[in-house]
Amino acid sequence: MSKLSILVVEDEDAIRDMLVMVLEQAGFEVTEVASAEKAQMGLSHNTPDLILLDWMLPGISGIEFARRLKKDDAFRDIPIILLTARGEEEDKVRGLEIGADDYVTKPFSPKELVARINAVMRRSGKTSDARQIKLGDLLLDTEQHRLTIEGKGLDVSPTEFRLVHFFMMNPDKVYSRTQLLDQVWGRSVYIEERTVDVHIRRLRKILSEYGREEMVQTVRGFGYRFSVSS
Ligand code: CA
Repeated sequence: MSKLSILVVEDEDAIRDMLVMVLEQAGFEVTEVASAEKAQMGLSHNTPDLILLDWMLPGISGIEFARRLKKDDAFRDIPIILLTARGEEEDKVRGLEIGADDYVTKPFSPKELVARINAVMRRSGKTSDARQIKLGDLLLDTEQHRLTIEGKGLDVSPTEFRLVHFFMMNPDKVYSRTQLLDQVWGRSVYIEERTVDVHIRRLRKILSEYGREEMVQTVRGFGYRFSVSS
């Protein structure tokens, strides 16, 4: 699976280097530029999944660049997180008003930044090929095709892996057997609804080895829900 890409626009070398390191470690593919002008030039041949944009830039400012992108049909769907040293509420409102998707104030912890990026990616529907998804202490790695609890690998079949992947992307929501068949097996395949029950049972059994069987919840008369809270 391909990595999600982030374009970092930041004029301060030290901060830019730090961002690149943090984001690469978090599994993203990172492109970096030092100005909005350079970002603009690169965008025409390479569209990132998200732009991390510093507010204070020489030349075109971050906020102005974000405003332009959000007005442009070709680029308005790229999520933008504004990065700023200014913590005033008014700035935050201004940033969000022009269409930025989120706002992170310097100094920030790498963990916080990555969490905000993941949240924005998720809201923009970009997590389908994010490398790692975490729910409670369950961790799914789409690149290694591995599902673990507290570092211990779970022995799931490819179908169960897809099922858990779908559930982890959509926690706490109830899905009928038909919806699960459509989403996990695909519309074009004809499979009986009871197949879903078979895989759910197996998944529960595997999770029960770790005392997590309650993550797969039966909603009587409707279907199933996956949740860390029972
Ligand atoms: Ca700056």
